[in-house]
Amino acid sequence: MQHDPLAWETFELSTVAVRAGVHRTNEGEHAEPIFATSSFVFGSAAEAAARFGGSEPGNIYSRFTNPTVRTFEERLAALEGAERCVATSSGMAAILATCMGLLKAGDHIVASRSLFGTTPVLFNNFLTKFGVEVSYVTLSELESWRLALRPNTRLLFLETPSNPLTEMVDITAVAELAHAHGALLAVDNCFCTPILQRPLDLGADLVVHSATKYLDGQGRALGGAVAGSAALLESVYSFLRSAGPTLSPFNAWIFLKGLETLPLRMRAHCEGAQVVAEWLALQPEVARVYYPGLASHPQHALAQRQQRGFGGIVTFEVKGGRAVAWRVIDATRLFSITANLGDVKSTISHPATTTHGRMSPEARTQAGVTDGLIRLSIGLEAPADLISDLALGLKG
Ligand SMILES: *Cc1c(COP(=O)(O)O)cnc(C)c1O
Repeated sequence: MQHDPLAWETFELSTVAVRAGVHRTNEGEHAEPIFATSSFVFGSAAEAAARFGGSEPGNIYSRFTNPTVRTFEERLAALEGAERCVATSSGMAAILATCMGLLKAGDHIVASRSLFGTTPVLFNNFLTKFGVEVSYVTLSELESWRLALRPNTRLLFLETPSNPLTEMVDITAVAELAHAHGALLAVDNCFCTPILQRPLDLGADLVVHSATKYLDGQGRALGGAVAGSAALLESVYSFLRSAGPTLSPFNAWIFLKGLETLPLRMRAHCEGAQVVAEWLALQPEVARVYYPGLASHPQHALAQRQQRGFGGIVTFEVKGGRAVAWRVIDATRLFSITANLGDVKSTISHPATTTHGRMSPEARTQAGVTDGLIRLSIGLEAPADLISDLALGLKG
């Protein structure tokens, strides 16, 4: 196969999203082919030996690597500005592979308290079984990150903006703290995608993704990825190759196609979310709106500096608690009632009784996830139609 020869760091992201990572076979195909094959054949016994021995690069078996998967990995690496990226079977597998590849018994993780709900479950219920310790801190408070560091802290882990309250932290400041302590910083960049935020440019060591969300963008497939330096990624890759939560070629192809429209979609998600957030902020039935693009957001200035857009997630609190929140959700005709996000179809959810339902009421209140809170993921429908939909229940 003919290799991709261009220096992608010299191109704009919208070009990279469409063109990076392309390998051509001799068949003259224009779109990227799907290599639906579990294994590969060798030209000779000597070539097989060289591939297995590692002295010659190339395909062996699709748990190790597959050309369609590699095309997706190379394109996402170029978008994140990473030396290397490895794809995984889900976002959670990306987080697991990062930890299994880079941590050992006795190591300590410092993570923000406001993470995607399954991430602390993975940390608390499984990593601790292998002797890894975990502490949680308040995302936006740098001092709480500093105080949580221990001699054995090896990894700092965060999402910014957070779900559902769009709380943020200065990635560069946390990276400096990590590095001064000999630790690594991993950022789950699922909400922003590289189009809005490139954590590696800001000093992070690793980026993890749930490709299931914006990278696909059309709710079709589950997948994930880890990106960073070649040296760190080699450890993550060797776990994946041994354990097997790798990405299927078909899902890789879906995400490749998703990446091509990602810059355009992210722009539209941001524009729509801004319109909806500004409208919500004016409604007397709404107590508060959480959206980094509003001047009222406590970290609006950080969002302007750190991100190239404010994202598609808008959270708001209605007056009247759970009864009113459920009324607003049930009155919508266009929004899908689901906890999924990052789709062309707008979604609506009630965090207190779904994604954050397993937390104790006290912990939930402390986290700011009140009974009146509603989270929106703004899709590509016309913002005016989405506003009409929200008005039905709000004005009810
Ligand atoms: C969905 C999600 C994950 C987990 O991804 P899966 O693909 O569902 O395994 C991790 N982090 C964030 C921020 C997510 O939204």
